[in-house]
This record gives sequence, C-alpha cells and structure tokens, in this order.
Amino acid sequence: MAKRDYYEILGLNKDTTAEEIKKAYRKLALKYHPDRNSSNKEAEKNFKEINEAYQILSDPEKRSKYDQFGSAEGFEGRGFSDFGDFGNFGDIFDSFFGSRTRSREEGIRPQKGANLRYNLKISFEDAAFGKEIKIKVPNWETCPRCNGSKSEPGTSPQTCPDCHGTGEIRNTQSTMFGQFVNIQTCPRCKGEGKIIKNICTNCKGIGKIKIDRIVNVKIPAGVDTGHRLRITGMGEPGERGGPSGDLYIVLDVKPHKVFKREGINISCDNPISFVKAALGGEVTVPTLEEKAKIKIPASTQSNTIFRLKGQGIYKIGTKQRGDEYVKIIVETPQRMSDEQKKLLLEFAKLSGEDINTIGEKGIFDKIKNAFGQNK
Ligand SMILES: [Zn+2]
Ligand SMILES: [Zn+2]
Repeated sequence: MAKRDYYEILGLNKDTTAEEIKKAYRKLALKYHPDRNSSNKEAEKNFKEINEAYQILSDPEKRSKYDQFGSAEGFEGRGFSDFGDFGNFGDIFDSFFGSRTRSREEGIRPQKGANLRYNLKISFEDAAFGKEIKIKVPNWETCPRCNGSKSEPGTSPQTCPDCHGTGEIRNTQSTMFGQFVNIQTCPRCKGEGKIIKNICTNCKGIGKIKIDRIVNVKIPAGVDTGHRLRITGMGEPGERGGPSGDLYIVLDVKPHKVFKREGINISCDNPISFVKAALGGEVTVPTLEEKAKIKIPASTQSNTIFRLKGQGIYKIGTKQRGDEYVKIIVETPQRMSDEQKKLLLEFAKLSGEDINTIGEKGIFDKIKNAFGQNK
C-alpha cells in the first residue's frame, strides 16, 4: 500500500510547528468534510487522509515515531496508545468545531469501521531479521448486492415515521422548575432515521458479509513480543460510506532454543572442555545467522563472557545491530578412561596437590596396577 507523506497531505513541511499543523488540518477538514461533499468519493478519501495525518502529526510522540520510521504502516512500539485513539474522527472534529447533537449525528454521519486485533506468533529469527507473512483475517466486507445500503437493489429505505428522519425523539416536559427537553434515540429506527422495508436477501439487512481476507504483513526487523503493527484500512468496513477501521497485528515472539534476548542484544551459553579453557584456542559458537569462531585466551575461567559485536538484533527502523554475548562454560569430563585419569593425577601431582585426597578411595593404587609401576 503506497502511502502519501503525512506532511504532504496537510501541505506542510517537516519542521512545521504544532500550531501550523492544527491550522492546516482545520482548513482542510472543513473543505473535505462529508457534510459538505456528499457522495464525493475523492473528498471522502481526502478527508480520511487528512484525519489520519492529523492524528499522527498532532501527537508529539507519534509524530516523532513517524519522523523516525517514515511509514504509516510502519512500526508502532510497545506502550503505543490504545486502540481507542484511532476511533471515530468525529471526536477530533467535535473538539474543533464544538459538539453537536451526538445521538442524531452518529446515526446519520458516515462512521469509521471497527478496528480489528490479530494475535500473530512469530519465530525468534523472524523477529530479529523481519519477514513478510500472509495471514488470514476473518472480517466483514460491504455487501456487494446492496452495496451496504441494507435494502434490496431497486428499493430504498423509507423515512422513519416516528422520528421523521431525525433519528431522535424529543419529549418536552413542563415542571414547576421550568421546561425540560428529553432527547432519546428513536427506538423504531435506532437513530438511523430510516426504515428498511425490503431487506437485502444477501446480507439479511446487515449491509456487510463475513469473509476471510488474506493480509500481507510486513514485519520489520527487531520487533518483540507485545509490539503492534497497524495496517490501515484493513479493519471492519465503515457505516454509511465511512472509512474502514484498521487492523492491529499484536506480535508474540517464540523463545529461541539457544539464545536469550534482552532488547537488541542476545546471549547464549557455550560449553568447552576444561583442556581448551586451560590452554586457550579457537571455539566455534552459534550465532543467529551461522556459526562464528572466537579465540579464547589460555586460562579462560568458566562464566567468562565474550562479546561478538553486531551479531545481535536490529534496532527497529535502523541498520544498527546489537551484540551477542557468549558465556563460556567450562565442562568437567563425564567419563574418563583409566589412562585419562592417570594423566590427570600426574597433572595434580605436578601442580603440588595432595593426591591422597583426590578421587575415590584407592584410585591411585588401582591405576598404578593397571599401568605398571609409576615412575
Ligand atoms: Zn426513527
Ligand atoms: Zn446486502
């Protein structure tokens, strides 16, 4: 989905002030508002675009993320504000132009479709390097038979006789304190202002039908569990010509068999023999891509950590990569031949250890017998 630049949409450049953004939005929102451009598809698209641009650019946190990652479909990090933020743009609009009779307007004004959430489990490697994944998302689609009008083709809804198309019922009550106007949503048409006589046979008057939609998800390198990706316009279809909601992909990264992750760094344990630890040498260690060789010095102690620079995970939206930390675990041999034991005892002797305190009872005599007289 190619997206226009949010600044471009509002006719601004990048170093524009918050006040200028507000002004530009206000001007364009008035120009393209659906109330003034009924059934003008181009205006509707523009209105959707400027609202989306404004939602991001008016929020300092989101704006800086947008500046950094440069994509609307891009990454939205942990702690990103709640889904509610992307609800109806009626909210923003009202905060600018003063609130109107909500119940009536909501019934008649185009409404953005609901946002959808999809939990996606991905592998450790896919999170580290990014991947394009196709997923099947159960969703709704505007009914092709009635085009969302809920009426059979060739018929049209009738004005509600109870509310006369206003979507609300007003009752005026006179009391000793004065007159009260009680406004409620019309129960007959549920605030729609219209009643459908000939219900669409395809969608049974819902205006939309259930479908499975195949969605291409671009997972950026460096994501982690809890990260959310937003795919604009892939949520439920809107009402009365309103735009579709958005699809949120919530990521869950599977643990790795070898590596642990901390931010952009990874770590693992690598066992080596005590001989190699003592004499030093080359050690082959696992990395996310293939294997790497590191040189360890003589007399390396167990739990010593070596760093492999740039072998970690990408920092999202950058070419920068974390490091890999390899912890050397010195292993004691599990099973030894008598000859190996003998050589170890020789070693202990040369190190000045009291060999009578080493090993099982009588091991030294046993080995002496097996190999003849010990020099
Ligand atoms: Zn009504
Ligand atoms: Zn239909």
